[in-house]
Amino acid sequence: MDHFNYHDGVLHAEEVPLPEIAAEVGTPAYIYSSATLRRHFGLFVQALEWTDHLVCFAVKANSNIAVLKLLGDMGAGMDVVSIGEYARARAAGVEGERIVFSGVGKTREEMRLALIGGVRQFNVESEPELVALSEIAASLGRTAPIALRVNPDVDAKTHEKISTGKSENKFGIPIARAREVYARAAALPGIEVIGVDMHIGSQLTDLEPFRQAYGKMADLTRKLRSDGHDIRRLDMGGGLGIPYERSNNAPPLPIEYGQVIRETVGDLGCEIVIEPGRNIAGNAGVLLASVVWLKQGEGRDFLILDAAMNDLIRPAMYSAHHDIVPVVEPPPGASVSPLDVVGPICETGDTFEKAMQLPPLGPGDLVAFRSAGAYGAVMASEYNTRPLVPEIMVDGDRFAVIRPRPSLEEMIARERLPEWL
Ligand SMILES: *Cc1c(COP(=O)(O)O)cnc(C)c1O
Repeated sequence: MDHFNYHDGVLHAEEVPLPEIAAEVGTPAYIYSSATLRRHFGLFVQALEWTDHLVCFAVKANSNIAVLKLLGDMGAGMDVVSIGEYARARAAGVEGERIVFSGVGKTREEMRLALIGGVRQFNVESEPELVALSEIAASLGRTAPIALRVNPDVDAKTHEKISTGKSENKFGIPIARAREVYARAAALPGIEVIGVDMHIGSQLTDLEPFRQAYGKMADLTRKLRSDGHDIRRLDMGGGLGIPYERSNNAPPLPIEYGQVIRETVGDLGCEIVIEPGRNIAGNAGVLLASVVWLKQGEGRDFLILDAAMNDLIRPAMYSAHHDIVPVVEPPPGASVSPLDVVGPICETGDTFEKAMQLPPLGPGDLVAFRSAGAYGAVMASEYNTRPLVPEIMVDGDRFAVIRPRPSLEEMIARERLPEWL
C-alpha cells in the first residue's frame, strides 16, 4: 500500500496534487511520501515484535538525508556500504551505535573512520578484511565488533545482477569455511565476534530462499556456539521484494517474512537485525515526468519523456518494469494504444518500456513512474549533461525540496581547466 492515489481525477502524493509540485519544481523529479515510508518501516518493526531487534534501513536504496532522518527519528538503524553512506546516516542524526557497516570492499580508511566514529558492527566479508580490521582496531586501542557475512549457497531466484547468496557470487565467506574463519577471528586481538550475517539478494518474491538460508544460519550458530563463540546477534540482511506491477501477485508481507525468521532462528535467543531497503522506500516514491513529444515511427509510436535512463536506470540495467501512469486520470473506458516509452538520451537502451498500453497523451502531459523510491535517485547521473534529478518529500498537505536540481552553471562550475589550456 502506498499514498499515491487519484483524487478528483488527479494523482496525488498524500494530499498534494502532483501537478502542483511539477509547476513549482519542474520535471523530472522524484517525489517521496512520508506516510508510506513510516508505514513500511512500521511493518518491519511489527514483524519482529516477538524479539529484541533493530531494523536497519539499507541506505543504498535511498540515501537522501531527509529520508534517513525521517526513519532514524522513528528508531531505525542504518545499514551502510561506504563511509559516504556512513556520513549521511550521521548527518541525519543516527548515532554510530545504530549503524551496521556492510560491503565487500571496505578500505582501511573506511574501517578506521567508522571505528573512530562508532559503529554497531562490521559485517566482514573476507579474511584479508578481517585481519586488516583487527590491525586498525588494535592500533586505535579498540576492538571491532563483527559478524562474518556467510554465503549460504542458496539461489535467491531473483535477477542475476541482484542475487548475492550463491557460491559463485563475490559476497561473503563460504559457509563450509565459516567455522575455521570464526576460529581465526576469535584469535585476533582487535576483533570481538558477536554474530552472524547473511544477505542473499534483492527483490525476492518468494520466502523459500530465505527459509533455506536462515535454516543454514541456525545450524551454523549452534555449531559456532559449541566451538565456544558467544553468538548473540543475527543479521538476516535485506531483500524482501515489492510489487512492481499492480496486476501481479503480491510478494510476501513483512509479517510473513518475520514469521520465517521466527521459525528458523527464533529459538536461539539472539537479537535480530534486518536490513530492508527496497521494501521500505520502493513504493514510497514516484518519478514524475512530462511528455516532450509523441513521435510516429514505422509500425510503432514513441512517447518521448523528459525523464531518461540517467534519472532511473533500473529498466536499462535490470530490464525492470515500472508502471507508468498518467497524472490526469483518463475517463473510464478511455481508449488505450501501445506506445514505446523512451527518454531523450542518445542510446537505444534509454527505453523504459515497449508497447505499453497507455491512454492518449501529448506534449506537456504529466506521467508518474510508480515504485521508484528505491534504487532510483541514488543511481542517477548527469549523463548527457542532464541536471541531477531533484527529490521532493511530501508530508500530508506540505512538500519540500530535499535535493534541488542543480543549474547548468553549478554543474559546469564543478569542473576545472588545467593551466595549460
Ligand atoms: C542491498 C543490500 C540490502 C538491501 O536490499 P533490499 O533488497 O533493498 O532490501 C541489505 N543488505 C545488504 C548487505 C545489501 O547489500
